[in-house]
Amino acid sequence: MRKQIVAANWKMNLTIQEAEKLVNELIEKLPTLQINQEVVVGVPFPYLTMVKGIIANKANVFVAAQNCYTKDAGAYTGETSVPMLKSIGVEYVIIGHSERREYFHECHKMLTEKVERCFEHGLKPIFCCGEPLKIREAGLQNQYVETQLKESLFQFSAEQLKGFIIAYEPIWAIGTGKTASSEQAQEMHAHIRSVFQGQYGADIADTISILYGGSVKAANANEIFGKPDVDGGLVGGASLVVSEFVPIIEGLSS
Ligand code: PEP
Repeated sequence: MRKQIVAANWKMNLTIQEAEKLVNELIEKLPTLQINQEVVVGVPFPYLTMVKGIIANKANVFVAAQNCYTKDAGAYTGETSVPMLKSIGVEYVIIGHSERREYFHECHKMLTEKVERCFEHGLKPIFCCGEPLKIREAGLQNQYVETQLKESLFQFSAEQLKGFIIAYEPIWAIGTGKTASSEQAQEMHAHIRSVFQGQYGADIADTISILYGGSVKAANANEIFGKPDVDGGLVGGASLVVSEFVPIIEGLSS
């Protein structure tokens, strides 16, 4: 059974006091999760330990960093390595978010190195991909996303990519309030699965959890998550409001 995941991406928001209040409220109101369902909370680096402490005894709830560096240690002022994240009990890392690709110029090769560090140290990457509006308007989204996957991930073995997590996030839908339709999401998720199937076979492709991200809200989560190749969501803005985020989690099919 594939894992279904709702992952929060708080981005660069909240003070520590606000973050603590939010995560406590989330834990208090958290719906029952099935055995194959997980909630992952992606928080800014300074809050990882605090959030980890609060969710410590909650089954199927995990903390994620929103980035990591390509090297394990050394003279890289301001960076945070995967061994550092591991040492504080972080389980997941969001890698290649479109905001990092755009504002911090993260390229395919850099993302490969980050995923590699995660594999080496036993952390789970949530690998983001997705096309800008111009590419969608030109009808080139399938090729664009395929290139992102091939360039950064196809160096890895089938064994390494078993149970891998992809977040498909069309850039035109992130933070814009404009969600891809459930049909558009399904179409791309099926394409992504077929790309993995072509390279690694159906046995591996079927284990890959593909999350949809881009203005997911309480009002649309259930419909999007109901599509056969959509295994949950990566949620930005709506993850900062517990009364929005909890119904999104409830949108996972049972
Ligand atoms: C995101 O940042 O990954 C995201 C999907 O943001 P939003 O839900 O706000 O569109």
